[in-house]
Amino acid sequence: MKIAVLPGDGIGTEIVDEAVKVLKVLDLKLELEFADVGGMAYDKHGHPLPEATLKLAKAADAILFGAVGDWKYDKLERQFRPEQAILGLRKNLGLFANFRPAICYEQLTHASSLKPELVAGLDILIIRELTGDIYFGQPRGRRTSPDGTFAGAEEAFDTMRYTRPEIERIAHVAFQAARKRGKKVTSVDKANVLETFQFWKDVVTEVGQQYPDVKLDHMYVDNAAMQLVKSPKSFDVVVTGNMFGDILSDEAAMLTGSIGMLPSGSMNASNQGLYEPSHGSAPDIAGKGVANPLATILSAAMMLRFSLNQPQAADRIESAVKDVLSQGLRTADIWSEGTRKVGTREMGEAVVAAITKKTTKS
Ligand code: NAD
Repeated sequence: MKIAVLPGDGIGTEIVDEAVKVLKVLDLKLELEFADVGGMAYDKHGHPLPEATLKLAKAADAILFGAVGDWKYDKLERQFRPEQAILGLRKNLGLFANFRPAICYEQLTHASSLKPELVAGLDILIIRELTGDIYFGQPRGRRTSPDGTFAGAEEAFDTMRYTRPEIERIAHVAFQAARKRGKKVTSVDKANVLETFQFWKDVVTEVGQQYPDVKLDHMYVDNAAMQLVKSPKSFDVVVTGNMFGDILSDEAAMLTGSIGMLPSGSMNASNQGLYEPSHGSAPDIAGKGVANPLATILSAAMMLRFSLNQPQAADRIESAVKDVLSQGLRTADIWSEGTRKVGTREMGEAVVAAITKKTTKS
């Protein structure tokens, strides 16, 4: 099992180091190969996604990704910005399905900004379409406005588009995921205003007929944003387009208390996947050894489950994470009175120790 390890910028190296320690203690036959990505790759090679990194990623069964970005790159031409590396990997590997679980651990209920009873036991899965929508639709650009009240003025425009096969494949992914969980899919759209999303709704409904055992409902994105904070536990699997998914998955992330706890995975049709924490490179805390590595460690667990077919190894990691939380260990982002504040390394090593302890016991 070949894994391309791409730590990237900011806290990327710190958190990926801990996830790698965890992977190594599992005693699986994993071949880990590291490569440069993001701003640091631009600094070294003149491109955020160097050819060698892309080649390695394509040849790997899975990619473990840290984070990219720093405000210092904001003035670069768009094609050279660190974030382009992620878009390039998604595009080149055809990673169209983004899984963003939002799980509220019992021990962290109080870290959520919502009332504990609203989030206790929360376990929802947001599936975001990743390769279409307004993020990639052509044409796009700047021009002189050809019509309307401000004809002749400078304007910018993007294009929202979805083809039937793009909607069908993400809908199948959602229904199949729901079958293994609560058997409910909520498809989020803006069918009342956007033609693209009326089409989305129609196609998801058609696909849903092949899954009579899964309940399907539809919700407008504005209502979904509201329901996520009003009664988040009413959802099971949420499926939506690229832009709505981007926003809703971050909103869902905060329900769980800290973005430092949330893994994610993006898969293609052959289950090859890129796994990364849901957060960014956190330049404000980079190099301080305080970042929470659990989202990355849990992303490694998702990688084992979804791309490497090692569900038991994934279970071992997830159970070890629960153990360290039960021991009262907390990084600064999830710390509260009565718990013990630890740094990135200590948290990673505690997960390793919890896995080792269980292995020795059994
Ligand atoms: P961010 O997620 O990096 O940080 C937001 C806040 O959350 C910060 O206060 C940060 O300290 C905190 N945080 C994030 N991860 C944490 C962790 N593991 N432990 C503790 N605290 C954590 O988002 P941002 O500040 O908007 O963006 C910073 C940079 O990251 C930007 O350059 C942005 O483009 C990039 N970014 C990259 C990705 C990615 O690599 N997939 C995703 C989002 C943002």
